[in-house]
Amino acid sequence: MIDQVLEARHYVGGEWIEGGCDPFESTASHDGRLICRALAADAGIVDQAVAAAREAFVTSGWKDRRAAERAAVLLELADRLEAQAAPIAELVAREMGKPIRLSVDREIHGAIDKLRFFAGAARALVGDVTGASPAHLLDLTMPTPVGVCALVIPWNDPVDLTVRKLGPALAAGCTVVVKSSEETPASTEAFIRLCEDLPGLPPGVVNLVHGPGAPTGEALVRHPGVDKVSFTGSTATGRRIMELAAGTLKRVSLECGGKAPALVFADCDRAKALDALSYGAFLYSGQSCTAATRLIVDDAIYDEFVADLVERSEQLPVGDPLDEGSLIGPLVSQRQLDKVQQFLAAVDGEGGTIAAGGRVDGLYVWPTIVTGVDIASTLAQEEIFGPVLTVFRAEGEEHAVQIANGVRYGLGASVWTKDIDRALRVVRKLEFGDVWVNTHYVRQAETPFGGWKESGVGRELGLAGVREYLAWKRVAIDTSPQFHLKTWFEDES
Ligand code: NAD
Repeated sequence: MIDQVLEARHYVGGEWIEGGCDPFESTASHDGRLICRALAADAGIVDQAVAAAREAFVTSGWKDRRAAERAAVLLELADRLEAQAAPIAELVAREMGKPIRLSVDREIHGAIDKLRFFAGAARALVGDVTGASPAHLLDLTMPTPVGVCALVIPWNDPVDLTVRKLGPALAAGCTVVVKSSEETPASTEAFIRLCEDLPGLPPGVVNLVHGPGAPTGEALVRHPGVDKVSFTGSTATGRRIMELAAGTLKRVSLECGGKAPALVFADCDRAKALDALSYGAFLYSGQSCTAATRLIVDDAIYDEFVADLVERSEQLPVGDPLDEGSLIGPLVSQRQLDKVQQFLAAVDGEGGTIAAGGRVDGLYVWPTIVTGVDIASTLAQEEIFGPVLTVFRAEGEEHAVQIANGVRYGLGASVWTKDIDRALRVVRKLEFGDVWVNTHYVRQAETPFGGWKESGVGRELGLAGVREYLAWKRVAIDTSPQFHLKTWFEDES
C-alpha cells in the first residue's frame, strides 16, 4: 500500500513546478489519512500552463504530424497505465473511496481501453468532399484541431474522465491543460505523470494544474488563450463555465448532472432487473451521473418488486474500499456526505418513508430506498449523488414516461420489458441521451455518450467524441480559368 503523503505539483511545459496559493489537501475517504497536499494554481500559473500549451500547439509539430504518430503516443500511454494499473487503482480507491474491484476493472481498465480506442480513432478522422460541385470545383471540409483545450475533471472517475477528454484531444492534434478536481488531485496527477518523457510527446502538449473552481478553474476557463473547454461536473458549474467561456466565445462541451430513471414494466425479467438495479442505483455509492436514482415501477408489480429490491440492497457488501469484497465504499468527502444527509433529512418532510438503508457511519451511507415522495419533491427532482433511490408507482406506460421525463436532467435512463414494441415506443419518448433496454451501465469507448436538457452539451467517446476537438475548415478550390461572379456580372450588364 502507498503510504507516503504526496506533494502535488503542476505540470507545465514538461516540467513539474511548485507554487500557487490557498493550500488544500486530499484525504482517504475510508480512514481520513492524508493522501496529498497541494497549492492551487493561481492566475499566473494558469497563464504559464496555457502559454506552454499554445507554444506546443503552434511550434511543436504535434498537430501537423501523421495521425499514426499521435496514435503511437496514445498506445504507449495505455501501456504505461496498464503497467501501473494496480498502484493507480489503489490510489483512486483510497482518495475517492471507489471499491478496489471497481477501481481496477471499470476505472483503470476502462481508461486503458479508451486510450487504445482513441489511438485508432486518430487514424480514422475524415472530412467530406461534396459531389454536387461542377467539375472545375473541389469543395471539401477539412478536419483541423481546435487548439488549446482546458479539460476540467470531477472527482468521481479521476483517471477515466481525464482519459475521455485527453484521449480525443490528443488524437485530434490539440494541446491541453488538465485541471484536476480538488478532491482527487493525486489520482489525476498519477495518470498525468505517465506522460513524462513519453516518446513522441513534445513538452507542453499535456499540462496539468491543480486547484478548486476559484481561483484555478475560473482563471483557466475564462483565459483568452484557451480555444475550447471540456468539462465534466455538476449542472450548476456547467452553467457557470458556459457564462465564463462566452467572454471569448470558446467552444464548450459539458457533461453535467443526471437523475436517471429506470422504468420497470410488469413483463420484465425480474431477476435480471433486480440484479442490475441494485447495482445500478448504488454503484460508487450512487456517485455516478448515470446511477439509477429514480425507480418507476408498474403498479401491477410495484409492491413485490420494491420488497425484493429492498432485500437485495440490504445484501450489498458495504465496506473498506481496499477490501476486495466491498461493493459499496464511503462517500468521497464530508462535503458530499453533508449534501446527502440534507436529502435524507428531507425525507420525512416530503412525505417519504425510508424503506431500506438510511444508516450513516463516518463517510459510509448504506444503500437507501425512499418510497412515497411526490414527483415534484426535491428528492425526486434534484441530483443527490449518493446511494439514495426514490421509487414511484406508475399507472401505465404513459404515466411511467411522464414521470421519467419530468426532470430537468436528460442523461441516462433504462427500460425494463420483454415487449420489443413497448421498448421501442418508450425509447422514442424518453428525453435522455443514453438509454439502455434491459440493462444498466453499459458504457463503451466506441459509442457516444452525453446528455440532453440540463445534463449537458456535446458528446464524449466514439468518433463523435473526437469530433468535439475538431474545427471544420471548408475549402473550395476552383480550377476554372474564369471567376464565376464575373460571368454573373457580365450576364447582368
Ligand atoms: P463540480 O461541478 O463541483 O466540479 C467539477 C470540476 O469543476 C472540478 O474540477 C471543480 O474544481 C471545477 N469547477 C468548479 N467550479 C468551477 C468554476 N467556477 N470554474 C471552473 N471550474 C470549476 O462537480 P463534482 O462534485 O466534482 O462532480 C460531481 C458532478 O459531476 C455530478 O453532478 C455528476 O453528475 C457530474 N458528472 C457528470 C458526468 C457526465 O458524464 N455527465 C460524469 C461524472 C460526473
